[in-house]
Amino acid sequence: MANSVTNRGGIRYLGNNNPDGDHEVHDLKNEKAQCQIDKIIRNNHSVRFIPDTLSQAREEGFDPCEWCIGGGSR
Ligand SMILES: [Zn+2]
Repeated sequence: MANSVTNRGGIRYLGNNNPDGDHEVHDLKNEKAQCQIDKIIRNNHSVRFIPDTLSQAREEGFDPCEWCIGGGSR
């Protein structure tokens, strides 16, 4: 399940659950400026996944960010 986080410490995959956004998941180990991670966290839209894997994020309806992960279906 996805849990709110207030910083990027200790996690690899960070999701953006902005209800007006596109539900993207980012790989913090490959973070790019375009990901705007700081903005996601500042707006309290950041969530982590348990387990902390890409497949878990996809299962919960998050699409991989094209900048840091790629391979999105659209
Ligand atoms: Zn990204």
